[in-house]
Amino acid sequence: MHARVKQDTSSTPFCHFINGEFVGSANGRMFDVFYPVTGEMYAQVHEAGKEEVDAAVKAARTALTGPWGALTVQQRVGLLHELADGINARFDDFLEAECFDTGKPYSLARHVDIPRGAANFKIFADIIKNVPTESFMMETPDGAGALNYAIRAPKGVVAVICPWNLPLLLMTWKVGPAMACGNTVVVKPSEETPATTTLLGEVMNEVGIPAGVYNVVHGLGPDSAGQFLAQHPDIDAITFTGETVTGAEIMKAAAVGLRDVSFEMGGKNAGLVFADCDMDKAIEGAMRSAFANCGQVCLGTERIYVERPIFAEFVERLKNNAETLTPGRPEAGATNLGPMISRQQRNKVLSYYKKAREEGAEIITGGGIPQAPAELEAGFWIEPTIWTGLPESSPVVREEIFGPCCHIQPFDEEEEAVSMANDTPYGLATAIWTGNAARAHRVAAAVEVGITWVNCWFLRDLRTPFGGSKQSGIGREGGVHSLEFYTEMRNVCLKL
Ligand code: NAD
Repeated sequence: MHARVKQDTSSTPFCHFINGEFVGSANGRMFDVFYPVTGEMYAQVHEAGKEEVDAAVKAARTALTGPWGALTVQQRVGLLHELADGINARFDDFLEAECFDTGKPYSLARHVDIPRGAANFKIFADIIKNVPTESFMMETPDGAGALNYAIRAPKGVVAVICPWNLPLLLMTWKVGPAMACGNTVVVKPSEETPATTTLLGEVMNEVGIPAGVYNVVHGLGPDSAGQFLAQHPDIDAITFTGETVTGAEIMKAAAVGLRDVSFEMGGKNAGLVFADCDMDKAIEGAMRSAFANCGQVCLGTERIYVERPIFAEFVERLKNNAETLTPGRPEAGATNLGPMISRQQRNKVLSYYKKAREEGAEIITGGGIPQAPAELEAGFWIEPTIWTGLPESSPVVREEIFGPCCHIQPFDEEEEAVSMANDTPYGLATAIWTGNAARAHRVAAAVEVGITWVNCWFLRDLRTPFGGSKQSGIGREGGVHSLEFYTEMRNVCLKL
């Protein structure tokens, strides 16, 4: 292994970050990452073998009981604030790195991904500082009593396995609370998006987070870093965001040694648009929930149910808006639509575009690959697509596509809309558009999901519970719910 004290993220290859140092792989294996905008290979990445995963877990274990464990909560909280400030101080580096990996517009990453990456450290630092634990005074036969009180201990070494769609945001959403609670982490970013997770290692060193608290191993899933990490016997808990089928594999690995898991997984979310809604707001919301981040958002609405009296108008207006989306280079001011993350993901989405055609969908807009300027032609571009007319049994309506597309279906009764929304093995999110508060409350209570938005979408207060029902997840994170996963409550019974 070769060690580098500083990873220059503008050069390649990307290294692992283990025990505060940037290191390559002993096995010499590398994989490529591509700039989705042009399709060009832009970086090589070291692929971790068991040796690097083991070194990262050992470093995390040592830091847990060593320098990190020795800090007071107040000291830890102070460092996490400095970390957030350190991300903000290198905002442009993070922005560039994130957009190189994903191709997403700067306008999106600047307002969502990078600020949330920093905020995730501050908010959980403040929560751990302020959340009380419980205590009970009990009576005893001798009359003196006993005081029971709970203390929060860190869970230990936490494996954090991440997807590619919101790389910095989703990774820090887990690393932030894990570190705030006193854990150490080994992060496995998606093989598609290694840059910002690597860059964060530099900031950890810059602000003086002790070596071994934050470790990064790069690689793929099966037979690579992901699997080696999930199966490592010295990991205490696994937190994962990704596809439901991957979650099932990781759960098998976690069963050995009975490690705790927190899973945020796939969805096939419904938007429910009632005739009494504010149509301008519903259209604006549906534009974002269907097409933001080129449809690569787990919380997006790939199924939209619209009350029949406004169905035709809604379809027409969403079409007109979708056709104004402007693909282009991330840094260009006019760009508000990026490419898909990879050729493979685009092929997957295109296979659903084909299926929709074969099944007789009415294609309202899109359905293919757009004409791009010559220099972007090899990028992973795809047209935003709207369909109507498919049966609810169609795979296009039932399966998570994870692309910039939605199927719109009319409904006549509220119960019918709720029943169609619930007719899925997933249960992540719903967006309801209505001017009737009683209806909003009734429908929100009836939909089987972890998150319901009423007259908004993706509005997130990080203190609230976040997670999926049914096959969309296990457990809740956010606010004190993150503390429940990242700490172990221990009761002390003190006889007076
Ligand atoms: P994925 O499941 O393919 O990969 C996620 C991570 O798991 C990657 O780092 C991958 O290398 C790793 N991995 C794959 N196989 C593994 C294995 N056998 N053992 C250990 N690790 C393994 O998901 P993706 O394609 O990167 O992301 C898209 C998916 O993520 C979609 O299904 C989306 O809905 C979901 N997602 C959910 C949420 C949420 O909050 N619920 C948020 C974002 C994305």
